[in-house]
Amino acid sequence: MTKSVAHFLELESSFGAPNYLPLDIILERGEGTWVWDILGNKYLDCLASYSALNQGHCHPKLIKAVEAQAKTLSLTSRAFRNTELPLLYEILHRFSGKDMFLLMNSGAEAVETAIKIARRWGYRSKGVEKDKAEIIVCENNFHGRTTTLISFSSEETYKKDFGPFTPGFKIIPFGDPLALEKAITKNTVAFLVEPIQAEAGVLIPPDSYLKSVESICKKANILLIADEIQTGLGRTGERFCFERESVKPDLITIGKALSGGYYPISAVLGDKHILELMEPGSHGSTFGGNPFGCAIAKQALNILSEEDLISKSKELGIYALEKFRKIDSPLIKDVRGMGLLIGIELNVSARSICLKLAREGILCKDTHDTVIRFTPPLVITKQEIDFAVEGFRKVLK
Ligand SMILES: *Cc1c(COP(=O)(O)O)cnc(C)c1O
Repeated sequence: MTKSVAHFLELESSFGAPNYLPLDIILERGEGTWVWDILGNKYLDCLASYSALNQGHCHPKLIKAVEAQAKTLSLTSRAFRNTELPLLYEILHRFSGKDMFLLMNSGAEAVETAIKIARRWGYRSKGVEKDKAEIIVCENNFHGRTTTLISFSSEETYKKDFGPFTPGFKIIPFGDPLALEKAITKNTVAFLVEPIQAEAGVLIPPDSYLKSVESICKKANILLIADEIQTGLGRTGERFCFERESVKPDLITIGKALSGGYYPISAVLGDKHILELMEPGSHGSTFGGNPFGCAIAKQALNILSEEDLISKSKELGIYALEKFRKIDSPLIKDVRGMGLLIGIELNVSARSICLKLAREGILCKDTHDTVIRFTPPLVITKQEIDFAVEGFRKVLK
């Protein structure tokens, strides 16, 4: 096999739809917080595949779970039952405190599913008039790329020439409880929100925003849907980001780190009186809840607890924030974050800085032109954080 970078780049640019603009680094191996390219260069992974790799690359326990289940049973479809799905339910119940779950594959599918569930609850429990349900969302949201989800995006590049769009959504500013209060009508069934807007550039709402939102939703009898696909599962130093304000959303979407990077698996978690409205035939997915994915998810969740990765994320997040804030560079505009979800806002193009960081052995991704996301696997050590901070310091000089 040829190891020429040019060869791979040529194949990709000839045959791949150009919907991504990756750095020209071709990775072939990963272990923990580190990845290696085909030339043998080693990099500290400070993106962790958008927080899908909270457990780190190729975690030995996940390899074991993958191998064992791959040899045993991969797919049953939901026409039949399997052993892994109910066992995953049990773990999800213990982990989240929620009492009913619906398994899907990608994050976008989990959000789509939550939207269907909320609408159904609106018609059947709240008594909203047929086909009138409204869901309130926030400006700068990111919930995935399906036609319905981009329908309520405020990002022009996500939407351009993809219309017509799905109706039934209302966009309000993020972090503003009053705007929510004003936007609610008799047809509102839910408020869908990311506890921290990660894709938008790690935007953290004001203190007690989530708490206010929770009480507004309760008072107006609408569902609070927390999209924890990126912020959940330890990323922000809590099991779920909303926990820092002791909020209890009605529905929660998770994905990404739910499989520790091995397999697309996502879920909607919720209360029984809501999820039980999804009777047989109302929704489904050929691969949703398959034994292979569930066996991996069970282990991925176990690793978070066994290795104490959630409190580690909190502690190391504080450490990393302080270190990044100490970098004395006029190019840094702001450093913000919670747990190991950290955004470094620059006065210059973040992509050019990411290119230079890669030369220092640090893989980072720009988001929204001027923000670099520092979201390494939660298994990162203090020494590795120091290495990343030193790289930033050098590049920003
Ligand atoms: C990544 C992400 C999604 C979409 O997940 P996919 O698996 O890419 O479909 C949805 N919501 C949030 C907050 C995300 O970060």
